[in-house]
Amino acid sequence: MPEMSDVVIVGGSLSGCTAAILLARQGLRVTVLEQHRDPGHYKRACTHYMQPGAAVVFDRLGLVPRLEAAGAVPNSTDLWTRYGWIRPPDGGPHGYNIRRSVLDPIIREAAAETPGVELRLGVKATGLIREDGRVQGVCGTDHTGEEQQLSCHVVVGADGRHSPVASWAGVPVKEKKHGRFMYFASFEDLVLTRGSRSLIWLTDPDAAYVFPNDNGITVLAVMLTADKLADFRQDIDGNVRRFFAHLPDAPDLGRARRVSDYVGVPHYPDLSRRAGTPGLALVGDAALTTDYLWGVGCGWALESAAWLADEIGPVLTQPTPETTDVDRALQRYARRHHHALAAHHFFIADLAGGRVLNPLERLMFAAAVHDEQLASSLARYGGRLITPWQFLSPPRSLAACASRWAPPERHEPASVPLGRDTRSLGIPAYASVRMRSTSGRRSGR
Ligand SMILES: Cc1cc2nc3c(=O)[nH]c(=O)nc-3n(C[C@H](O)[C@H](O)[C@H](O)COP(=O)(O)OP(=O)(O)OC[C@H]3O[C@@H](n4cnc5c(N)ncnc54)[C@H](O)[C@@H]3O)c2cc1C
Repeated sequence: MPEMSDVVIVGGSLSGCTAAILLARQGLRVTVLEQHRDPGHYKRACTHYMQPGAAVVFDRLGLVPRLEAAGAVPNSTDLWTRYGWIRPPDGGPHGYNIRRSVLDPIIREAAAETPGVELRLGVKATGLIREDGRVQGVCGTDHTGEEQQLSCHVVVGADGRHSPVASWAGVPVKEKKHGRFMYFASFEDLVLTRGSRSLIWLTDPDAAYVFPNDNGITVLAVMLTADKLADFRQDIDGNVRRFFAHLPDAPDLGRARRVSDYVGVPHYPDLSRRAGTPGLALVGDAALTTDYLWGVGCGWALESAAWLADEIGPVLTQPTPETTDVDRALQRYARRHHHALAAHHFFIADLAGGRVLNPLERLMFAAAVHDEQLASSLARYGGRLITPWQFLSPPRSLAACASRWAPPERHEPASVPLGRDTRSLGIPAYASVRMRSTSGRRSGR
């Protein structure tokens, strides 16, 4: 006989643990299956930038004091384009930078401590139990090879972008083209250049980050278009250093110590799936994995888990929940997920293919350099606190853009060599643009 829970969650990372805590707090019995046995396990492919929306959920989970005690750095971000720096005013909403090696064990421990949550580490889900076509439970095996069967009202796939749960349930996946690779590493003793701000350079079409994290660690990342991958890989560390050396106001890597290997992600197509079907919910990356350039995945993992708990919790806590009511709640969750994230995903995925900025984006970035209110609004949009439509409406933002319109400067190639040879790969001439804007003449590059 299968064991009975109200909810079985596959995946004990950010989304799975958040859903477990918020459902169990409503009085439900929740079982979390996590294939890794080590409670300190963490996701390595992540640059640890948590959006303001994530901070709202951390607050709701009661984790902010623990995260701050562990060194989480409140983040606000300056963004550079060839038009200059966009600096949102101080005191706006912020998220946190905290390494996943620190964050993941904290959130897993919080789940394990929550009455009503049973966290089973070292149990790998292997399939779904169905009755009359509806998902009714999960099968798995523990590390000794012993089989487990759990039946429940709702199965939650919090099992990451490849989501075995979604595949077993036959949930179709939509894939969108991705055109930039990423390499990142952690550094110590790096002197930041714009206070404690996180920094993003959109060198168009490439990009780079500097994210100060907990315990004096700073994460540096570059995201270049896919055509440069082979040359870049010839000398990863050298190419990262060369790339940063050409960025305006970049920190001096020569005076810092690299304390991790580089993590490289060569290809990362956007994947999306319907977030709720009968008996089944998908949260976090299982529902939607989008481009890493904007650092939104963790925030959306936490937020989607919270939306799910809000929709299904009140139905599942009824004395005898009706299947039709449960499935309606799952539909509501799917709609909420779609309404909150689909438009963001559309715009993120559009840029993720590797194109250069379009005229509207150039206008917006050029205007936000000089307009503090637009910079603040852009930060709220980039922080995914408002939708693209809220950002553009009322049309104040558009009017601010239009008032600042000037034809963009020509996009000239510069000779930043990648690989071990000295061949130019056509990196935009951001250094010369900066000199031109301050001195009024060409840099001669
Ligand atoms: C290079 C890179 C950089 C990124 N940087 C950022 C960033 O700066 N900010 C940001 O917000 N996002 C970032 N992201 C995205 C972010 O890492 C993810 O969105 C986030 O980890 C999703 O959390 P999750 O809980 O949904 O899934 P995951 O963290 O992927 O967790 C899935 C869990 O499911 C478990 N699991 C899988 N299958 C099974 C099974 N069969 N049985 C049991 N357990 C199973 C796994 O072991 C894992 O613990 C980045 C991603 C990449 C690739």
